[in-house]
Amino acid sequence: MSRRILIAGNWKMNMRAASAASLAKGIVDAVGKNSPVEVVLCPPAAYLHTVSEATAGTSVEVGGQNLYPADDGAFTGELNAAMLTDVGCRYVILGHSERRQLMGETDACVSKKLHAAMAGNLVPIVCVGETLEQREAEETEAVIEKQIRGSLEGLDEVRAAGIVIAYEPVWAIGTGKTASKEQAEAVHAFIRGLLADMFSPGVAEQIRIQYGGSVKPGNAAELLAEPNIDGALVGGASLKVEYFAGIIAAA
Ligand code: PEP
Repeated sequence: MSRRILIAGNWKMNMRAASAASLAKGIVDAVGKNSPVEVVLCPPAAYLHTVSEATAGTSVEVGGQNLYPADDGAFTGELNAAMLTDVGCRYVILGHSERRQLMGETDACVSKKLHAAMAGNLVPIVCVGETLEQREAEETEAVIEKQIRGSLEGLDEVRAAGIVIAYEPVWAIGTGKTASKEQAEAVHAFIRGLLADMFSPGVAEQIRIQYGGSVKPGNAAELLAEPNIDGALVGGASLKVEYFAGIIAAA
């Protein structure tokens, strides 16, 4: 089964309104019409509207970097799925390692967000990944399995087919160290097997699994050529049109 490549840019806490608009427009121009690759831009919440406007009527989609799993109410500083869709989002990144490490997000918390995202018609990009210490202790598969089982808790087969998983080894994020294509493919194949076990082989075949961790134009093609790597979640290199466009072109 062929899964459409998904390249998402996680802008993290970067940009200002003017630079966000110009980066988004640059990406729109680079992607053009009828791209075989699906492209998503995930700006900070403050610039979702700006990026939605800059990408309106194009094939480039918009995603949030987080959400709070509740309906409108007394949750100062938060935003929910309805607000993300209202401002033009189709995707939302959940459980990024920075949120797990800096904001103490647990698998149970990611699972609540996942259900809120899906109930609000957003496609969740669920991030998982091991630390260097865990990899060196040969705990990678156990860590990934725990994160996936916990983060997807309560998800049924029908909805599972529509999610995206991003495998992002923590040691490769923002460090310039990329997992080799063999290392990445081994974990992606493990994840697909796990999804087959949790749901069904057919559902596992439909779920896109992105790789993230220092993806650049120079290493994207070989990673994306692996059979179980269905796209990339890109941090640093998504902040420059030429780098991000280079990754899209490599796909
Ligand atoms: C990320 O934060 O999702 C990421 C993959 O960052 P970078 O590409 O900078 O390693």
